[in-house]
Amino acid sequence: MENPKTLTDAIRYYADPENCIAIIKEMRWGGGEPICPHCGEQRHYWLAKQMRWKCAACRKQFTAKTGTVFENSPISLDKWIIGIWLVANCKNGISSYEIARYVGVTQKSAWFMLHRIRYALANGSWEMFGGPESGPVEVDECFIGGKPKNMHAKQRLKMQNGTHANKKMPVMGMLDRESRKVRAKVIPNAKREVLQREILNAIEKGSTVYTDGWTGYDNLAAQDYIHETVTHINEYVRGQVHTQGIENFWSLLKRGLNGTYVAVEPFHLHRYVDEQAFRYNNRATKDNPLTDYDRFMLALSQISGKRLTYAELTGKVGETACR
Ligand SMILES: [Zn+2]
Repeated sequence: MENPKTLTDAIRYYADPENCIAIIKEMRWGGGEPICPHCGEQRHYWLAKQMRWKCAACRKQFTAKTGTVFENSPISLDKWIIGIWLVANCKNGISSYEIARYVGVTQKSAWFMLHRIRYALANGSWEMFGGPESGPVEVDECFIGGKPKNMHAKQRLKMQNGTHANKKMPVMGMLDRESRKVRAKVIPNAKREVLQREILNAIEKGSTVYTDGWTGYDNLAAQDYIHETVTHINEYVRGQVHTQGIENFWSLLKRGLNGTYVAVEPFHLHRYVDEQAFRYNNRATKDNPLTDYDRFMLALSQISGKRLTYAELTGKVGETACR
């Protein structure tokens, strides 16, 4: 059969557990034979009835789920796969209530699935943005719950110093104009040390950096960047010097957060940010006409070697990569 094109195709195709195992096998082991996640051995037996493998060396059994974000989950692979399809392709995100209804699990299970999927979508390694020969990088922050635009320095200070109840969460975003990729991260505050440390970690020296006039970006030139600022209030766009690319990303993020999701606890905000960044960075463009199936496959490719337990998710212990 051809690759599924639509959600309906996907539901039909992955209703067959063999198709689920085949796709996971392809993703995890490049279409080759499975490697034992316990000891790394390649020889194994296929236990057809249980739909699992048995290692010929350590004799332990393993499934397509072992060593992935699906590990130890009683939810069947077809439900996971449709969950991934939905998260990868719903532009404004999807809530646990919707997932629960569509795939037939409880809302609590759907919430857990969503967080595991988001964890898989988080891009752990990044190429540096910009470069002296490359295009400019837009840098901006957005306060979740507050308005990202037209904010005076005083308001920004008030937002980040607010009491617990009204505290807004700052998210820092960067958009590389050349690759059209975004990276975004929840930051503790929007003060100079934090902002400039993030820039140093993410943008090559010698790059051109566009920001607004927030004092947190002052003296970037001293750090070997070519720094140009745009003042939103009276000079919205000055030719190429603008931050509208990253502001478009903020609109998408906020639309997802305010519309689709019922509530976001600050603790989980970074996962929503990662999810939105995944969709943004893998959106279809003229040069890169990705389909829903492609985005689904990209998301699926990130499941291997990542595992998140309920305790980790609820903040009781730190995150671990299982290999
Ligand atoms: Zn083994």
